[in-house]
Amino acid sequence: MTGLFALPCCLIDSLPLASEPIELNESIATVCYIVAGVLFILSLGGLSHQTTARRGNLLGFFGMGLAIVATIFGVMVGGFATMTVAIVPAAIIGAVLAARVPMTGMPELVAMLHSFVGLAAVLVGISSHLRPGIPVPESEQLIHQIEIFVGVFIGAVTFTGSIIAFLKLRGTISGRPLTLPGRHLLNLVAVGLSIGLGVWYCRIDSVVDGLNPLLLMTGIASLIGIHLVMAIGGADMPVVVSMLNSYSGWAASAAGFMLKNHLLIVTGALVGSSGAILSYIMCAAMNRSFISVILGGFGTAGKGEAAEVDGTVKEFTVADTVDLLNEAQTIVIVPGYGMAVAQAQHSLAQVVQILIERGKEVRFAIHPVAGRLPGHMNVLLAEANVPYDIVLEMDEINEDMSATDAILVIGANDIVNPAALEDPNSPIAGMPVVEVWTAKTCVVMKRGMATGYAGVENPLFYKDNTFMLFGDAKKNVDAILRELQH
Ligand code: NDP
Repeated sequence: MTGLFALPCCLIDSLPLASEPIELNESIATVCYIVAGVLFILSLGGLSHQTTARRGNLLGFFGMGLAIVATIFGVMVGGFATMTVAIVPAAIIGAVLAARVPMTGMPELVAMLHSFVGLAAVLVGISSHLRPGIPVPESEQLIHQIEIFVGVFIGAVTFTGSIIAFLKLRGTISGRPLTLPGRHLLNLVAVGLSIGLGVWYCRIDSVVDGLNPLLLMTGIASLIGIHLVMAIGGADMPVVVSMLNSYSGWAASAAGFMLKNHLLIVTGALVGSSGAILSYIMCAAMNRSFISVILGGFGTAGKGEAAEVDGTVKEFTVADTVDLLNEAQTIVIVPGYGMAVAQAQHSLAQVVQILIERGKEVRFAIHPVAGRLPGHMNVLLAEANVPYDIVLEMDEINEDMSATDAILVIGANDIVNPAALEDPNSPIAGMPVVEVWTAKTCVVMKRGMATGYAGVENPLFYKDNTFMLFGDAKKNVDAILRELQH
């Protein structure tokens, strides 16, 4: 969203100065900005709970619409043709892409949108350097140069980092962490070089000569972005996605300083700080250190070889699973990415309703990084009208696992992997997981023996009380539903 707003701001910056702002328009725009800022804050408040999330989304939508209209019509009296040519096709492409993207492709779309915000900050910075849209007094020249330099730096890191995140989430490049020798030193040298270029940049008066350090730093910052995200291991990607969300906010805020646009500063700061808070919460949930995330190069927990996984896999049929559900009094369902792929949530909601009507206690256990984006499972279950009060966070339900009669793991893998707790050399060592193996019986529904997103073998499948129900999650849940209805 901030990228969407940064775009018209960026275009306005590049328009001829002949289009002088009109004072009245500016005052109206300022009022609109204040209203939009309030709407964004209310939107964030609304998004903090399932019942108010839809309203929160709408408030944010109206706030952003108002901000864009006020920016385009409020400040400018000309140059509409340029903006129409750029914005209308972009808005149509964006709307079509967003409407078509499946829920499982949402994280990739989000990563791509973050990259646009980073790119917008780089473009705003370079265009502000070449021709400041707003005249800068001599006394503020140094501050303006620092704003440009910092804005372009954050923007370039966000741009390339988000592209790598997009490619990793898409599976185009491997999710395995790239650990170059002395990678922290490499990052440090790159940051040191950027600071040196910054000092050089601030000492140059000439626009043409100043472009050299600015572009050199853009190249180095782009490499930092690539290196930071390449060094992140598979299961730690969720934290990176929220971290890039935060970086994109700061990039937008930096663009706001360059353009002297207060709403862009406020919006960017809201996105930056809420992204940072989300990253912190996810770090705590994944048992990772916040600092190591910011510095990159984590997701490589194990120092030695991960333990070999072997044993015998025991299979269940649909009829076995229905028998188990009929006998069980307490049932916990653990959904994962495979449920989203199969779109099994609607049939599952009907299965749950029947079981509850038969007097059983049925609850869902939601791992904080289940699926491919924060809150992924909650969104799918809400879409299928599963009541909120039976959908519990992992921490709220984990200690009840051992007293549970039957667990259904539907398309989940990494989030129920006991190696995270039992094998210190596992790449996911230390990550809290839903302890499904402590229940009386656990049924895992997936298509085969493939690993999950982190590419780690799962010893759960070989435990004495675990049974595999192979096949597409939707087909199997449908079959369970049919048997229960008879
Ligand atoms: P996983 O990716 O670990 O496992 C999903 C499993 O679903 C696979 O092993 C696959 O096995 C199975 N599956 C796929 N399609 C189907 C289908 N149609 N029917 C039945 N099963 C299917 O998912 P989890 O939710 O357990 O864990 C999430 C992982 O993603 C974590 O590693 C997390 O760190 C990472 N991640 C999370 C993000 C977030 O914000 N939540 C963002 C980015 C990454 P098979 O092929 O054998 O069927």
